[in-house]
Amino acid sequence: MDLITTKIRRAFPEKMADLLRFSGRLAVEMGYTAFAVGGFIRDLLLGVQNLDVDMVIEGNAIEYAKRLSKELCGVYVYHKRFGTATVFIPSLGRIDIAMTRTEIYERPAALPTVRLGPIENDLYRRDFTINAMAFSLDRRHFGELLDPFNGRKDLKEGIIRALHDLSFVDDPTRIFRAVRFEQRFDFRIEPHTENLIKKAVGLKMVDRTQKQRIREELISILSEDRPLKAVRRLSELNELRFIDPDLKLKNSTVSLFNSADEALAWYDNTHISRRHALECWLIYLAVLIDDLSPAKIKKICGDFVFKKADAAKLVSYKKNEKRISAVLSKKGKLKPSQVYEHLEGFPYEVMIMFMAKTRSQTARRRIMSYITKYAHVKLDLRGDDLKKAGMEPGPHFKEIIRRTLHAKLDGRVKTKNEELGFAVKTRRYHNGNKAGTHRKRDEGYNFGDNQRGDKGSPDRLRHGNEGRGDA
Ligand code: ATP
Repeated sequence: MDLITTKIRRAFPEKMADLLRFSGRLAVEMGYTAFAVGGFIRDLLLGVQNLDVDMVIEGNAIEYAKRLSKELCGVYVYHKRFGTATVFIPSLGRIDIAMTRTEIYERPAALPTVRLGPIENDLYRRDFTINAMAFSLDRRHFGELLDPFNGRKDLKEGIIRALHDLSFVDDPTRIFRAVRFEQRFDFRIEPHTENLIKKAVGLKMVDRTQKQRIREELISILSEDRPLKAVRRLSELNELRFIDPDLKLKNSTVSLFNSADEALAWYDNTHISRRHALECWLIYLAVLIDDLSPAKIKKICGDFVFKKADAAKLVSYKKNEKRISAVLSKKGKLKPSQVYEHLEGFPYEVMIMFMAKTRSQTARRRIMSYITKYAHVKLDLRGDDLKKAGMEPGPHFKEIIRRTLHAKLDGRVKTKNEELGFAVKTRRYHNGNKAGTHRKRDEGYNFGDNQRGDKGSPDRLRHGNEGRGDA
């Protein structure tokens, strides 16, 4: 049995091997040739399971993808910008499908002109030898490795090697890719390739590249496990400059990376039922640019066209971090409701950033309690219950609900009946207060003074954590 077939057997469920064979047969039926390529082959040879298949077709890739999706009852998605398609196969994985391309770079760092070409040209346009291998899915040649640049040897020796001397001038995003693969696999960029990178850095090629493309590479680097290694390497290559000319990897940044790792590891090990999928890269980006001023951070978000929600999280962290650390690190008792008031509405990424940044163990503990306990406390009481108790719906509902939730957080009410009793009492008190009578002493906030603006609605008893957008 040949190498690829053995590897497929070992690395994948039988269904995946069948899928690859079927894909090859379908291509032949349509008069095309199909190849698996790129990272998929690299990972296959490394024995790393990767259920994202990169496929190229000598032929009309889009017609092929539509047909494949139909035959496999998959979900077909067309990517207009790239002229490629993805077929999602439920419970198995995804197949990215493109035509075999010949690329011509008319200007350095600009997007190339693309046309259909043979598989050999398609491999030549790729970034590194280890990513420039393919195997035919055609039954007659199934499992034959196409390896014109000796990628398999480099893979064995742990080497990242560019395919030609203009590689980083043609496409400077490859600088980030080289570092990412080097650090991910503990490989090394071979000396000539490193020199090519240094030359491209010296020529400031990255500055001539579309910022959105660089942003995607930055996100990929920061999405790696423990991205500090790759960031260190970029710093060595003097290529953190692309984010901001003043950005340096100081010791304080390194220890902040480590604290972020710890905070994320803690979050991964919590057993909370409604766990938020965190954008870890965003946390690491906040760490990396922590030393820059809020104005610079805003500029970076604009220049790199980060999504509004991501930019809002970065700015929110920067704006609130010192205040939150100060209030939550105060010695002495802070009631759960007070901790809740301070943290409610912050996205989880921002809270993890607060945890990583604060030097106060007390503040960190309070944030942990918020994430694991307070954020999950819900009222059993509903808007309808208040109406049934004779209350007229109106803006005051929101405040009554808030106060009742605080009472529950502080253990002053437990059952639904107690919640209702408390709400009714609060309502009476509210009426009295409006008439300028008594004022309760034990509340740490002003009644009716919603500092956060719009938070919740009269019928929204189940306080979620979304939607603060307070940046
Ligand atoms: P990962 O495991 O991070 O997804 P990958 O190699 O699969 O790694 P992709 O970005 O999905 O990464 O790229 C798929 C393939 O496309 C690569 O293996 C490489 O052959 C090719 N490729 C991607 N980006 C470039 C680039 N900038 N220049 C040349 N080839 C590229």
